Amino acid sequence: MADSTALRARDTIYAGGEWRAAVSGATREILDPADARAFAVVAEGDEKDTDLAVAAARRAFDEGPWPRTPVTERAALLRRVADLLVRDREELGLLEAQDAGKTVEEGRVDIDCVADAFRYFADLVAEAPGRVVDAGSPDIHSVVVHEPVGVCALITPWNYPLLQASWKIAPALAAGNTFVVKPSEITPMTTVALIGLLTEAGLPAGVANIVTGPGHTVGARMAEHPDVDLVSFTGGLVSGTKVAQAAAPTVKKVALELGGKNPNVVFADACATEEGFDTAVDQALNAAFIHSGQVCSAGARLIVEESVRDRFVAELARRAEKIRLGRGTEDGVECGPLVSAQQREKVESYVDSALKEGAVLRCGGKRPEPAPERPASGYFYEPTVLDRCHREMRVVREEVFGPVLTVETFRTEDEAVALANDTEYGLAGGVWTADPGRARRVAGRLRHGTVWINDFHPYLPQAEWGGFGKSGTGRELGPAGLAEYRETKHVYQNLAPAPVRWFRG
Ligand code: NAD
Repeated sequence: MADSTALRARDTIYAGGEWRAAVSGATREILDPADARAFAVVAEGDEKDTDLAVAAARRAFDEGPWPRTPVTERAALLRRVADLLVRDREELGLLEAQDAGKTVEEGRVDIDCVADAFRYFADLVAEAPGRVVDAGSPDIHSVVVHEPVGVCALITPWNYPLLQASWKIAPALAAGNTFVVKPSEITPMTTVALIGLLTEAGLPAGVANIVTGPGHTVGARMAEHPDVDLVSFTGGLVSGTKVAQAAAPTVKKVALELGGKNPNVVFADACATEEGFDTAVDQALNAAFIHSGQVCSAGARLIVEESVRDRFVAELARRAEKIRLGRGTEDGVECGPLVSAQQREKVESYVDSALKEGAVLRCGGKRPEPAPERPASGYFYEPTVLDRCHREMRVVREEVFGPVLTVETFRTEDEAVALANDTEYGLAGGVWTADPGRARRVAGRLRHGTVWINDFHPYLPQAEWGGFGKSGTGRELGPAGLAEYRETKHVYQNLAPAPVRWFRG
């Protein structure tokens, strides 16, 4: 598998229906974060490759059949793509696991979710026509119709490489757009594979284009390009701000899905029974440590009622210490490495600064001992629980994007809400309580794009995903996730034209 991937990965730029090497000839090695060894080599594109891909997408939009293809045919193609994803689930799941440092099971679940996104937007687009407007006169025919936006620039991160790409590619295609996608330079493999599946499903040349390469060259050029009509970006706050600035002079549509610093609020009443306590602890563990915390919606801030803090944190730390770290393909491994050396160093610097600021380490806080399933060269880091944290600490305010859970406490409902909303982000939050009234009250007051009550992490393709505050603008998934990729046009037809006589001369 690694060999065939390496061979195929040589020409990973696809523009106008042709696989190509970078114009400069540059390449990049793709590393397996479990052992830091290269398992593939891809083309390292730059601005020149981006211009070629955008030109191909522009031509396909202006002259090609796709924007004018009947919606039922577009939906049928998306369903074929979903079937191909199911066919290749094992291979793609493994590739995603190897590239992004996930367990194979997580990789497979990601591919299932990608297929679901294609099916969802296929169904939605067929059911989301324009509308007839009653203009109040039988002589006026007024309709509001949806049209594709044009050439879409899609820029994605490394934590859920194919899933994040599918939340953009599926609605963009459903709506009749053409696109250029730029995956994260460190995890491009499954997005490259998806482009192959789109072609196999029958997408016309030039509709789907990919440029593998860095953000500061390829991504920046996509954002500023005058022939791009829309840029949809998922990634960090700093890069997202640059994308918005680069896009502004050409007034293209911009959608940003950025980071989060997500609160998980646990009321004591949720822990009143043994079963409730066990569930809340288990889910807090999952919220913080799945995919080593490299999740935009990770429940990285535990905000727990003071009366249950000691028992809750002790049990949480006990279970966190037992999480089995290792290469995602090894049996029994529950959590993979961090994605890169740089990401692990960033996590380490946050933990260091938290300890200097007075946080109390309950578990983790270091690299694990190497083991057969965990080579010393891999980027592993132990799940870490930092108790006695407060809102002035950097580790509480900034997105760590690693396996680091901070603990804060509250005494009243108002205090819990104030703490949960005390973030410049606003992506997601959870509330655990046995009191249904409190659950609804608190959910109503949280300033976050997704609120989970007595759960954490699930999403539905039918429900919008996105952030308040600095977590971004726009929404993915749900009807709003399709609307991002559509222009809305009002067509007003006068069936009995006559002079207006406003001007009498
Ligand atoms: P990143 O911002 O470093 O990179 C994201 C993408 O942007 C990459 O493809 C990168 O090459 C590109 N990029 C970087 N600089 C650019 C520039 N100047 N112009 C254009 N493109 C540029 O983010 P990352 O480290 O890959 O991903 C982690 C971040 O993504 C976290 O902050 C996480 O919260 C966020 N994220 C958000 C969501 C969401 O749904 N809100 C989902 C997943 C990840």
